[in-house]
Amino acid sequence: MSATEPVPAAAAIPRRADFTLLIDGERVGSSGQLDVINPATGAVFAHCPAAGRAELDRAVAAARRAFPAWRERSVEERRLAIRRMAGALRDNQASLAELLTLEQGKPLAQARDEIARAATQSEGMAQIAIDPEVLVDEPARRIELKYFPLGVAGIITPWNAPINLAAGPLTSALYTGNTAIVKPSPFTPLTTLALGALLAEVFPPGVLAVLAGGDELGRWMTEHPGIDKISFTGSVETGKKVMASCAGTLKRVTLELGGNDAAIVLEDVDVKAIAPKLFFAAFVNSGQVCMAVKRIYAHEHIYEALCAALAAEARKARIGSGLDPASELGPIQNREQFERVLGILEDTRRRGARILAGGEVPRGAGYFFPPTIVADIDEASRLVQEEQFGPIVPVLRFRDVEDALKRANDTRYGLSGSVWSADPERGAAIAARLEVGTAWVNQHRATSATVPFGGAKESGLGRQYSLLGLKSYMEPRVISVLK
Ligand code: NAD
Repeated sequence: MSATEPVPAAAAIPRRADFTLLIDGERVGSSGQLDVINPATGAVFAHCPAAGRAELDRAVAAARRAFPAWRERSVEERRLAIRRMAGALRDNQASLAELLTLEQGKPLAQARDEIARAATQSEGMAQIAIDPEVLVDEPARRIELKYFPLGVAGIITPWNAPINLAAGPLTSALYTGNTAIVKPSPFTPLTTLALGALLAEVFPPGVLAVLAGGDELGRWMTEHPGIDKISFTGSVETGKKVMASCAGTLKRVTLELGGNDAAIVLEDVDVKAIAPKLFFAAFVNSGQVCMAVKRIYAHEHIYEALCAALAAEARKARIGSGLDPASELGPIQNREQFERVLGILEDTRRRGARILAGGEVPRGAGYFFPPTIVADIDEASRLVQEEQFGPIVPVLRFRDVEDALKRANDTRYGLSGSVWSADPERGAAIAARLEVGTAWVNQHRATSATVPFGGAKESGLGRQYSLLGLKSYMEPRVISVLK
């Protein structure tokens, strides 16, 4: 459906209601309820149970009961369980992807990719060996460092990639011997609940709980004395609240927060070759990606050519309902975010910036916003300073690389960034000076199961994926033996 077509009356759409929480191995309902909106229509299309404090307490008690036996399972047994989880994701890829598109908005092909990626990443992480480290090995003494699971991990996820962002922490927690409680965003609870229903057959009762609920459920998790670790993915603002709340019980925390990623494009690039890659890195999932390119710094020699090439990509991109196979970009996920991005567009116009493509937002029923390329914008504007998390990207001009680096680093965010150049070594030397968790050269958004990912500065704390990420779900213990 395009943004301008009329939407059937909400009442005429049968609402799906076949969703359940997963607590202690059982699929259960609750007295609370969440309505879920399809962002392509703006209408409620489903509802699901919402957990209250009683459901959380039951899930925590079950997770604590299940922990000792799960911890004692061999690593190989837990690896096999993660493989079965990956199998469940693959076997149900089509139905999970359709549900994901309905609640999140992204095109079906990208929803399928998200499910497949969650499976691959999980299997990849469950291949990593976590060996004890021998620190001292002398005739008179031996000192070893071993890693033990923490207990119950609470996993709180955002609405932009609910399955992929649950799978990483979930695999880390369960593979390392913890039990886990997952809470998806109230905007996109359904696919995670559907996954929970599938995994009821994979993990023993209590090892995994899936609870949908509002923001307050997240807060109760961070306060709960029966939860030992919180893995939070979401905004910087909420991340700070999570950290403050976890301090009450000194929970371990991993925070994967927002970003304002810069891409620095040097004068030696092949503009035509890189424009589609940069466009994709900025606009995939309609810009709602933590590590999307959010600011493009282009050298003055290629500035106009790059602006024109990006604007051409934006005009070419097909925007529409994610269920339409022709759509390359779906709607913004929710009304609040749509209004926020509109506010950023207004600020951009007020400052007299050049809008090269997009900028005309249809006021239909869905939250559709055309891909928008902005040139000659003031560095102090909201679009440059804030995380826009939507399909509007500024292209900024520079003459001197030192100046580009200074501007790229002049932010409290520090998730990732990239440098684009015909000379990869020169690119790498510049990329190493970006104050970020990941600096790419001639690519953006490339992550894998064995490579740590996370933010510098206010973009987060700790790392997901890789041995480093797995160890953050464990407590190191020194065993020091005097022989
Ligand atoms: P959000 O912070 O509003 O919400 C995230 C989750 O936290 C939701 O489940 C929400 O219900 C819950 N929550 C809200 N208040 C809470 C509280 N006080 N205590 C505990 N939990 C609470 O984020 P969002 O709008 O859903 O997601 C978008 C943001 O997520 C963007 O900033 C994006 O960059 C970031 N993000 C980061 C990464 C990463 O890996 N660094 C990945 C994806 C998204």
